[in-house]
Amino acid sequence: KAKALGDGSFQFFEPAMWLEAKRRLHIEAALHRALEYGQFAVHYQPRVDLRSLRTLGVEALLRWEHPEFGRVPPLEFIPLAEERGQIGTIGRWVLGEACREVKHINERFGLALHVSVNVSARQLRSPDLIGQVRSVLAESGLPAAALELELTESALIEDLDQSVLVLQGLKALGVRLSIDDFGTGYSSLSYLKRLPIDVLKLDRSFVAENPAGDGFVRALIDMAHVLNLSVVAEGIETGVAMEALRDAACDEGQGYLFARPMPLAELEAFLVREGEGHAGDTQSGALPA
Ligand code: C2E
Ligand code: MG
Ligand code: MG
Ligand code: MG
Repeated sequence: KAKALGDGSFQFFEPAMWLEAKRRLHIEAALHRALEYGQFAVHYQPRVDLRSLRTLGVEALLRWEHPEFGRVPPLEFIPLAEERGQIGTIGRWVLGEACREVKHINERFGLALHVSVNVSARQLRSPDLIGQVRSVLAESGLPAAALELELTESALIEDLDQSVLVLQGLKALGVRLSIDDFGTGYSSLSYLKRLPIDVLKLDRSFVAENPAGDGFVRALIDMAHVLNLSVVAEGIETGVAMEALRDAACDEGQGYLFARPMPLAELEAFLVREGEGHAGDTQSGALPA
C-alpha cells in the first residue's frame, strides 16, 4: 500500500517489507557460517509399513537453529542454499550425518532401518554426486541398499536424458531412488518408465486433498505397482487417511499420526518403545534382534 507523503511523492516501502528484506539478507549471510558454527542438525521422521505399522526406515530432514532467528524452516533456507551454491557442501554433510547415525542406530539396536536423504536439483546436476554418495557409504559403512535418495519430479524433468544417466550411476552403487512430492509437478507417469526409480512418495497436499477411498489416488497407486514401484504416502495425520491409504494398497506411510521428525536421541527412544510394544511378536521388522 502506497503512503502519500507531504511533498506529493509516495513511499512504497512498508516497514514490514523492509524488515523482511533485512531478515533475508541476514539469513543469507548467516547461512554461510551455519555449518561451521554447528547450527545444523539432522532430524529423523519414521516411515512405517502400513500393514504392520512397523518402522522400516527414516527420512533425514535438515534443521537449522540460529541463535538470533531461531528455527529457520528448510523451505526458506534450502532454496537460498541452492541459489547461493551452498547446497553441495550442506547436502554432502547431511548425507554423511544421516548414513553415520543410522548405521550407528542399526548396530546399537540390531535393526535394519533404511534412511532417505533429500537431494536437490542442483545436487543432482553436480558432476560429483555419484562420487560423494560412494565415499559417504564407504566412510559410514552403511550398506548401499539401506540408503535411499529422494529426488523431485521437477529436478528430474529439467534434463531427462542427463537424469537417466545420473540415476543409472546411482543405481549401480546399489542405493534406492524415490520420487518425492509426487503429484505436485507434472505427474506424468510416462517419464517414470525411463527412470530407474524404486519408490514413489505421494505428496502430502495430494494425500490430504484426496480423502478416503478416492479413486484417483487408488488408480495412481495401482499404476505405480504396475511399474514395480513401491508407494509411500506423505503427511498422514489421521487414522481415517491411514485406513483409506491402506485399503488402496499403499505400501508405506509417513506423517504426524505416526511420528514427527525428531532428533537422534528421541528417535532412539521411539524405537525402544516400539520394540517393547512389539515384544513377543515373531515377525521381524524394526525390532531388536
Ligand atoms: P519433503 O522432503 O517432502 O519432507 C516432508 C516434509 O513434510 C517435512 O517438512 C516434514 O516435516 C513434513 N511432514 C511430515 N509429516 C507431516 C504431516 O503429517 N503433516 C505436515 N503438515 N507435515 C508433515 P520439513 O522438514 O519442513 O522439510 C520441508 C522440505 O525441505 C522437505 O520436503 C525437503 O524438500 C526440504 N528438505 C529438508 N531437508 C532437506 C535436506 O537435507 N536437503 C534438501 N535438499 N532438502 C531438504
Ligand atoms: Mg523428502
Ligand atoms: Mg516429500
Ligand atoms: Mg512434500
